[in-house]
Amino acid sequence: MSRLGELNKSIRRLEPQPSRSVLDPYVMPGIQPRSRFSDQLHGCRVYPLYYDPLTRLEKLMVKTGFGGFGTCLVCGAFTHWKIHSENLRESGYCRKCTAMNRYRAQAYVVCKSLSDALGIRLRSLADVAKLTNLKVYNTDAHSAVHRTLAPMKNYICSEYFGDEYTSGQCFNNVQHQDLMNLSLPDKSIDLVLTADVFEHLPDPYRAHREIFRILKPGGRHIFTVPFDQAQYLDEVRAVVDDKGSIQMLKPPVYHHDPLRLDEGCLVYSFFSIEMLSRLRRIGFRTNMYRVKRPWNGIFGNNSTVFEAIKWDAPSELPSEDWFQGSNAPHR
Ligand SMILES: [Zn+2]
Repeated sequence: MSRLGELNKSIRRLEPQPSRSVLDPYVMPGIQPRSRFSDQLHGCRVYPLYYDPLTRLEKLMVKTGFGGFGTCLVCGAFTHWKIHSENLRESGYCRKCTAMNRYRAQAYVVCKSLSDALGIRLRSLADVAKLTNLKVYNTDAHSAVHRTLAPMKNYICSEYFGDEYTSGQCFNNVQHQDLMNLSLPDKSIDLVLTADVFEHLPDPYRAHREIFRILKPGGRHIFTVPFDQAQYLDEVRAVVDDKGSIQMLKPPVYHHDPLRLDEGCLVYSFFSIEMLSRLRRIGFRTNMYRVKRPWNGIFGNNSTVFEAIKWDAPSELPSEDWFQGSNAPHR
């Protein structure tokens, strides 16, 4: 190595290191990426997924509106579930905290992830709320998950109020944050929670890069998105052009928006295996969980949750250029 190289190396060693996450950071196994192409799913644990029909019991639950008894992984209470729709992912309301199925699936992965990392047993988000040195950023300020975690000492929540606000501004005592342009500092958060948010972002991977930026090394983003496990490429349904106008590529799809009940929220993308590959390139190691725990009110065939862990060594990753030649518009 040249003297200049040695000097640069020693300067890098002297640079202040960021504070580490209280979570046990992910330790990279001794597997190195072999080539730009062969490693596209390296680091992602993908379980085979199937479109299962509802079981007999689940059909009976839909018919009767009664989802059975069990322990809610959000509020921790022993309770029962109210079913109001065949779409079980968006149903099964906890009679105590009103959390639905997919929030409990997300809570299951949060508890599992933190329990494994911290070596303690966390049974529900109510247990997580008692952790004093964990810094959590939740991108909603209205759900049962928010209400459960709100008493935490190091808890930040936000909503998206519209283009006219800048990230960090407060509106009715709630912070506005644009996930594609967060005002939070680098390497400051242990755990980020988003629930069915990324499909509504014009550039979802810019938001993933922002989350990577604010996470401490070893920190994690636990999230749900509409995910089609049978496809490879994301389905891009709309884009924002250079002039800032929305261009529809497919007929518009809107989801329920708790802040804008009359308008709904436009879907820009549905995600597929490509998402795992692109997260890997940003620097995340992503685990994909398909959760089914009827005794915890997690039923149906679509409770998929993702856990993206900030990799310790992003400099060893190939760049995102691999995707530049692809034909999807938001790349
Ligand atoms: Zn509950």
